[in-house]
Amino acid sequence: MRKCIATVSVSGTLPEKLAAIAAAGFDGVELFENDLLACMLSPEEVRLRAADLGLSIDLYQPFRDFEAMPSVDLRRAEHKFRVMERLGARTLLVCSNVSPEAIDDDELAAAHLRLLAERAADYGIRIAYEALAWGRHVNDYLHAWRIVRMADHPNLGVCLDSFHIFSRGGDPIGIEAIPGEKIFFLQLADAPLLAMDVLQWSRHYRVFPGQGAFDVAGLVRHVLATGYTGPLSLEVFNDHFRQADADRTARDGMRSLIALEQAVGGEEHPATPTGFAFAELADDGSVREMLAALGFAPAGPYPGGHAEVWRHGGARVLLTRTGRAPELTAIGLHGPDPAGAVRHATRLLAPARPGTDAIVAPDGTEILFTGPADRDGAAAAGAGEITHIDHVALTQPWHHFEEAALFYRSVLGLRPQESLEVPDPYGLLRSQAMSAGEVRLVLNLAPGGAGGAQHVAFAATDLLAVARRLRAEHPGLLLPIPGNYYDDLEARYDVDPALRELGVLYDRDEHGEFLHLYTVTVGGVFFEIVQRIGGYRGFGAVNAPIRLAVQRASRSLKMSA
Ligand code: MG
Ligand code: MG
Repeated sequence: MRKCIATVSVSGTLPEKLAAIAAAGFDGVELFENDLLACMLSPEEVRLRAADLGLSIDLYQPFRDFEAMPSVDLRRAEHKFRVMERLGARTLLVCSNVSPEAIDDDELAAAHLRLLAERAADYGIRIAYEALAWGRHVNDYLHAWRIVRMADHPNLGVCLDSFHIFSRGGDPIGIEAIPGEKIFFLQLADAPLLAMDVLQWSRHYRVFPGQGAFDVAGLVRHVLATGYTGPLSLEVFNDHFRQADADRTARDGMRSLIALEQAVGGEEHPATPTGFAFAELADDGSVREMLAALGFAPAGPYPGGHAEVWRHGGARVLLTRTGRAPELTAIGLHGPDPAGAVRHATRLLAPARPGTDAIVAPDGTEILFTGPADRDGAAAAGAGEITHIDHVALTQPWHHFEEAALFYRSVLGLRPQESLEVPDPYGLLRSQAMSAGEVRLVLNLAPGGAGGAQHVAFAATDLLAVARRLRAEHPGLLLPIPGNYYDDLEARYDVDPALRELGVLYDRDEHGEFLHLYTVTVGGVFFEIVQRIGGYRGFGAVNAPIRLAVQRASRSLKMSA
């Protein structure tokens, strides 16, 4: 299907927006009127610029407060039609009236829209009537369709906007009652579920499909069932997107449409990873010291020789020696079909490392796909205190949290889990967990976008034994936990007093229990060791504020052994 995006969805001046939109591979744009008014280029020049970039102008928008007014103002409409002629745009979006002067009279609205459509027909222009969720009298897409049907003009149809439908709790099944040829345009946006004024929600919090809570793919299926053949078009108003790099936002939008098409078509991920093969860290020497304390031992160079493998049980960490502060640079994932995983990622616009089975995520993390876990690894698992990598937590750059979440979910085939805002002494940490089988990722957006360490969590079969050894042999290695935490924990649960003694954190859910502890931070990295008992599915998020506060307070703590 043709893919479009509203110019309002990305940052920049109109020429910058068009260049970014074209570079991301879109076929056309919805030209937002303000973008044209603020542009030095004439409508003819905009048309040429777009055409040079391979873009059509599929929609001009918005035309407001027209229908069901005390008097009809066709002069304003004629002006728009002439501008559209110069732009080569053939569809005008008319949104439902929000004016206090609007009259609650469907017949009057239909008569006015018919007049508008008749005039538009002289210019070869079509009118797409959209029910705004906050329209004065028309705020439901089926209401808009009744008025369009009443007006009965071939140049008048409806524009459907997923946000306006879902934000009012509308059921998209009703779309199937509209003939496909009367759906003139389809605008797609997702949004997180927020309890707030719908206008503010729409203007500031829209996100690309797949980044929010709406079933946009389900809505598109209903639209396609009508025989609709027009474009899929993104219309997103978002405070972060307006500030972010336009190229990046446009590519993110295109990725969301590709993932949406796959979801609409019921396509499964062809090669979902099954587990972590390794985590790779840049090391200045302090990580190897910490890994040695945790019981890891060097196991020779990684094939190709760029890194040294450190191993404990079935957990592998690759270290590259650099002069930089330690940071997490790559993760390796086991899976049935590395080449298939790379092909899938490439379709979703992930940059691939030529000659390898590696791609690069938007946050800069390299992801290497490897084959199924070998027998060697399986045999080694269970041999030590640590069995495998349980999860990896990646810190995300400011303004790019939605992009990263959609990237990891769609490219790796992970399913979203808990999404939280965790209090930090200096702000809120936003966190999104996602998983597939043994691959668990947690994306964190640190307060203010700065700082925030990444972490790799190892699974242990007997965490208390590990904690006992580490506390005895390596004082200063583990993050201390406040006594107040245990006073509260012991009031809530009947827990082993060893938790307090060893500084082990605790959580439980309806499926099981969770024990975990943290090392201190070196550079931008720390380690966590966890033990899942029963079918516990979370990540100990309830304890994250404690961890964050202690980390903030103990920045200067160094390993003493
Ligand atoms: Mg809209
Ligand atoms: Mg964790």
